[in-house]
Formats: sequence, C-alpha cells, structure tokens
Amino acid sequence: MVYYALYWWADLDNLTNLQPRYGCDDPTYPYYFKLRCENCGEVSAKATCVSLGEVVDLPNGRSTANLVQKCKLCGRDASIVMIPGQGTPLTIEQTQKGDRTCLMVFDCRGCEPIDFAFGNGWKAESLEGTSFDIDCSEGEFADYDEKGECPVGLGKLRSEFRVVKKQESRGKTKYV
Ligand SMILES: [Zn+2]
Repeated sequence: MVYYALYWWADLDNLTNLQPRYGCDDPTYPYYFKLRCENCGEVSAKATCVSLGEVVDLPNGRSTANLVQKCKLCGRDASIVMIPGQGTPLTIEQTQKGDRTCLMVFDCRGCEPIDFAFGNGWKAESLEGTSFDIDCSEGEFADYDEKGECPVGLGKLRSEFRVVKKQESRGKTKYV
C-alpha cells in the first residue's frame, strides 16, 4: 500500500479558511480524480468519485474501503481507503507564504490517484467574518464583502498528490 496526501493551494483575496462546506472531513464532499493502475500503468478514462461517507466491502469480505475498482486493461483490483483527520483549511497567511495545505490522505492499493478535480461545495470566510459558499470547479471565485467593503475572491487553485509515510509520534498518527 502507498499513502498519498492531497496537497492544494490557491491565491486568496480577502478570504481565509477555505475548506469543504462541513470541514475537511466533510462526509459528503466528493473527491474526483483518475486512477493509474500500478500493475499495467493504464489510466482510467473517467474520473472516479469517492467520499468519506461512501463505504464498500472489499472483495475478501474482511474490511471496507471507500472505493474498489477493477482496471479495465489488466483486470487487477484496486482499492482506496480515505484517512480523515489530516486536513486543515487553507488560510490567507499560508497563501501569502506560498504554503500548501493537506486536504485528505488516501491509502491506495494497486493504484495511484492523479488529476484531482475541485468540485462544488466549498466555503470560506472574509477577513471580516462573512461566510461564502464557493464552487471551486471553475478554479476561481469572485464576490463582494458588504461588511468589509472589499472584493473577495480566489484563483490559481491547484493540487498535487504526494507520497507520504505514516509516522507515529506522541500517540498521534501523522502522514508526512
Ligand atoms: Zn491494469
């Protein structure tokens, strides 16, 4: 198995705490990405969708996963288990420093996730505390904050899957 952390970043304009509507562990937030088969290298033609709230039984019947998919070319089974508790909202301070934040960690067997696509169902707040519902699927957003009397927005939304290792430290499990 390989752990992949989904890191992402964006330019934020008078906005902060960008995250899925019910937080980074939002059970309904749909993650869309493609899978590359670890066995034959075939990339799935269609994007796969997984969410924390959707669980399926593994073929061996012994445990569950968030996705089980067969490679169309070689027939090998792949599975993905999502690991919550690793994501943090993207803040304006991070974007000013050029930092990235983690959204979710995926325990992948037999496949590699690629090409994450941001979807609808995000939220952020202005520096004055006004909250905004945001559709990230266009990669940009612009609105006006009446309270702060300033435009708010985001752009240059990007992401990458990074291979991480599981680390135990002081009773906490981290993926770095
Ligand atoms: Zn394959």
